[in-house]
Amino acid sequence: MNNIVRHVDAFHYWPDPEPEAVGKTVREFLDLLEGPTHIKLSGQQSNRCRAVATLLHGNEPSGLIAIHHLLAQDIKPVMDIHLFILSVDAAKQGPGFIYRMLPHHKDINRCFKPPYDDSHQDQLALALLNKIKSLDPECLIDVHNTSGSSPSFGVTTFMDEKHDALVSLFSHRMIVTDLSLGALMEISDTLLPTVTIECGGAEDDEANRVAVTGLSRYMTLPDILNQRHGDLTLEFFHHPIRMELTESSAIAYGKTNLLRDGVTLLPSIESYNFGYVTPENQLGFVSGTLKGNLTLRNQDGEQQLHEYFELRDEALFPRRKLKLFMVTTNPEIARNDCLFYVVPAD
Ligand SMILES: [Zn+2]
Repeated sequence: MNNIVRHVDAFHYWPDPEPEAVGKTVREFLDLLEGPTHIKLSGQQSNRCRAVATLLHGNEPSGLIAIHHLLAQDIKPVMDIHLFILSVDAAKQGPGFIYRMLPHHKDINRCFKPPYDDSHQDQLALALLNKIKSLDPECLIDVHNTSGSSPSFGVTTFMDEKHDALVSLFSHRMIVTDLSLGALMEISDTLLPTVTIECGGAEDDEANRVAVTGLSRYMTLPDILNQRHGDLTLEFFHHPIRMELTESSAIAYGKTNLLRDGVTLLPSIESYNFGYVTPENQLGFVSGTLKGNLTLRNQDGEQQLHEYFELRDEALFPRRKLKLFMVTTNPEIARNDCLFYVVPAD
């Protein structure tokens, strides 16, 4: 347990920033942060608190944009709020908000499970968990953007009314997953109600509005765990499975088959985010065999590829009606993470 002591100060601490002190723009605000930062906002009640994590991925600014906006407005929280801003160094590179993480660094949102090694990300993940344990907030939200354009949604590994209520502050779409990837929200099973909020694409103005509205409710409403918010009924998506490239395959995006050996997806595939696809909707092309290029395993590790997809000549089609989400058109993310998530639609 030595790691825990050694890294208690992994975060720069900034209590109750004055509205004039946070910079005029979000870029100015980012430049004021010297690394991973813990901002505390004192609320009307100091015996209870809530926590927020954001910028785990440096290219997903909506959470930080919303925090900057609310600090500049001098928001008065109903109870103490602890804000944790993680990948400041990655976000600051170049023009800003370009890098998901620094080159050769691990994705910190895959580091929240043992064993923890000596890497910066594992140690920062541990430091955050220890802060959360010692502050003992009533809940935690982790605010992200999707890699492509998308409507907002929440993700949880735990199903109960409290998690539903938290997501409903931001969105009416809720993904329930068993996938154990080492994401921060997975601590829900043992620590406290935690959800991931995907506000929508980093380039979408709507995503920033979702973040501002949701975070403002999160900070100011007296009861956010026992009643749902928003006007729409929650729409659930259970146990999506991940469409991944095989190790030997390659990915491209285009309207024609671009690779002699590999997968080419149509650029328009992004428009199917949270929509249906049917056996009439071509998604792209595969040169070579389906299973030589793609893999789609359910949580028991069973290959589902041929149940859900087929090749007609070299064109890739669904075999049945499906719902897709987290569709990316970023080849880097497609290669290192996944192409999209799938659930069967009935
Ligand atoms: Zn993210």
